[in-house]
Amino acid sequence: MWGIYSTLMAAFNRKRKCPQCGKVNIIRLENKDKTVKCRKCGKDLPPQNPRV
Ligand SMILES: [Zn+2]
Repeated sequence: MWGIYSTLMAAFNRKRKCPQCGKVNIIRLENKDKTVKCRKCGKDLPPQNPRV
């Protein structure tokens, strides 16, 4: 059960850590493949580990 649960949570909550200020930004599922801006410093956070 835990495996399924964590997989679901991973699908809904994408975390992306800002390399500049270290702020962990929560990326919405719809934006997981897009570049978003850090909420703290505004740096562009490109998608990581894109699924091929
Ligand atoms: Zn930042």
